[in-house]
Amino acid sequence: MLRPVFLANKGPFPRQGLLSREYTTMAVPKKKTSKSRRNMRRAHHALPNVSGIECPNCGEQKLPHHVCGSCGHYDGREVVAQSEASA
Ligand SMILES: [Zn+2]
Repeated sequence: MLRPVFLANKGPFPRQGLLSREYTTMAVPKKKTSKSRRNMRRAHHALPNVSGIECPNCGEQKLPHHVCGSCGHYDGREVVAQSEASA
């Protein structure tokens, strides 16, 4: 029997309303995900290597295009003022 899409109800219980957030059914996988499929999905989950460079001012390791956390320099000038305690 053909029914309009907005009236279709897949669950055994009627929906509360067209705009209701309470759904009577949830999406359930039809088949178990095999170890192979699961591992293929997770093949892209590895974290990338984070490259670091030496700060040209103090020589500490820092992230490229970031202010140096050790001396507060970026692009040849002091961007973050260093206090006496942390410097
Ligand atoms: Zn530095």
